[in-house]
Amino acid sequence: MSPDGETRAPNLYDAEPIPEAARAEIDRLLASGDLFRYTAPEGAPVARLEAEFADWLGSRYALAVSSCSAALFLSLKALDLPRGARVLVPAFTFAAVPSAVLHADCVPVLVEVGFDLRVDLGDFARKLDGAQAVMISHMRGHTSDMDAIMAMADARGIPVIEDAAHSLGTTWGGRNIGTIGRIGCFSFQSYKLINAGEGGMFVTDDPELAARAVIMSGAYEYNWKKHPGLQNSFPHWQNRLPLYNLRMQNLSAAVIRPQIAEVERRVRRGRANHDAMARMLNASPHLTVPPALPAEERAPDSIQFSLAGEWTDAEARAFEATAKRRGAPVQIFGLSPDNARAFWNWQFLTEMPDLPMTRAMLMRTCDLRLPARLGEGEIAFLADAVLSAAEAVKLRGAA
Ligand SMILES: *Cc1c(COP(=O)(O)O)cnc(C)c1O
Repeated sequence: MSPDGETRAPNLYDAEPIPEAARAEIDRLLASGDLFRYTAPEGAPVARLEAEFADWLGSRYALAVSSCSAALFLSLKALDLPRGARVLVPAFTFAAVPSAVLHADCVPVLVEVGFDLRVDLGDFARKLDGAQAVMISHMRGHTSDMDAIMAMADARGIPVIEDAAHSLGTTWGGRNIGTIGRIGCFSFQSYKLINAGEGGMFVTDDPELAARAVIMSGAYEYNWKKHPGLQNSFPHWQNRLPLYNLRMQNLSAAVIRPQIAEVERRVRRGRANHDAMARMLNASPHLTVPPALPAEERAPDSIQFSLAGEWTDAEARAFEATAKRRGAPVQIFGLSPDNARAFWNWQFLTEMPDLPMTRAMLMRTCDLRLPARLGEGEIAFLADAVLSAAEAVKLRGAA
C-alpha cells in the first residue's frame, strides 16, 4: 500500500463535538457554581436527565451515577445479595464487570461465549443452578438470547441485571435493551454512544430496588425526596443502608442531556456503517461477521469479525499487523497483550476457570471501532484494508 494509505486512514478514536445546546447550560452552571445534584430544590440537571432518560427508554425509574461499573455494583447491592453469592457473567466482557461483582462481595461465575459473541445457553443452563443473580453483558452491543435467558432465570426466581453499557439504542423484540431484566445499566464513558467522559445510569421498574439504589448512591438525609415516585419506600431504608457516594454531578448531566436527541441518528448511521462493512467482509472466505439474532435490532459503533477457517496464531498476528499498517487498527482480543476483555488477564479473580470455547473465540475475533461519524468512503477504505490484509496473509500462507 502506498503512503497514501496512511494519510487517508480515518481516525477512529476522535469523538464527535458535544451539541452546541450544552454550552448555555454549562455556562449557567459555571456562573452559579451549582454543580452538586442535590443543591437546587428542584429541576437540577441530573434530576432532569433522569426523568428524560427514563421517559425516553421506557423505564419507571432512572438513577444517574458516576459510571456503568458503579451502576452494576449498586445493582448487586440493591438486590441485597448475601456475601459470596454466585453471579453469572459472560466470559466475554470488560474487566470492570467481574470487578463490580467482586466489589459487591459476590463471586463471578464466568459463562462460555461462542463465536457468535453471545452467551452459550448450554453452559448458562448448567451454571444457573446455584447462582443468585445473572449479570448479562451485551458485549460490544451483541445481545444474547434474552427470551431464553429470562425464561431460564424466571423459572428459578433468579434476578437478571443487564449490562447495557454498550447497548444504548439496541432493541430486542421491539423492547429497549436494559429494560428486559430487573435492572439495566448504561455507560456515558467516551467510547459509548453518549459521551460525557464518564457517567452511568441505573434503570428499573421496581420501586424497592430504585429506592435502595438511590440511597446507596449517596442520597443522604432527605435528599431522596428529590427523586420522584418513590416516597413510600424511602423512610423504610433511611439510615439502614451504607452510602457509597456514586452520584453524578450537574456538569455531566448538562453534557449528556442534549445528546439523547442524537441517539437515533447515531444508531442509524452506526448500523448502516456496520452493515455495509459486514457485507463486504462476509464476501471474503477468510472472514465472518456474526449476524444479529432475529429479535435484535443492533446499534453498533464498532465491528467484530472472526478469522474463518484455519488460521495459525502467526497468521492471525500477521493479519493484525498488516491491517493496522494499511490503516485499519484491528485488535484481536486474545492476541493483543493485556487486553482487558480477555478473561485470562483478570488475574484478580480468585479462581481462573477453564473456558475453551471463549478462549478459542477470543483468539480469532477481531475488533474495530466504527464511530457513527464515518462516511461511506471511510468504511470502504477500512473494509479494503481488512480484506486485502486477509488476502495477503492467506496468499503468503498458501505459497
Ligand atoms: C464500557 C463498558 C463497561 C464499563 O462502563 P464504565 O462506565 O466505564 O464503568 C461495562 N460493560 C461493558 C459491556 C462496557 O462496554
